[in-house]
Amino acid sequence: MSAPARVMRMADDDGAFWAVVREGRILRRYATRSSAEIGLDQLVVRERPKRKERACISCGETFQSEHAGHRMCRNCRPRATLCAQFYG
Ligand SMILES: [Zn+2]
Repeated sequence: MSAPARVMRMADDDGAFWAVVREGRILRRYATRSSAEIGLDQLVVRERPKRKERACISCGETFQSEHAGHRMCRNCRPRATLCAQFYG
């Protein structure tokens, strides 16, 4: 799991700006703090629902799904021919 992103005030040769930053890397830059906060919210909303408990589509067992394409539990995944579709 990656570190949470946050909003930071930054500056470069072109002047000061707000940025959504994760692990020291600028994901996106914004002119104002409010737009950066909104951008961060959208990022969190986009990422969070993907990681949740799901019922395996193969055996029905509940497991921790890492993202939207992750629909099979650990037991079923190695046997799944759909893997290439999800991970290829
Ligand atoms: Zn399963």
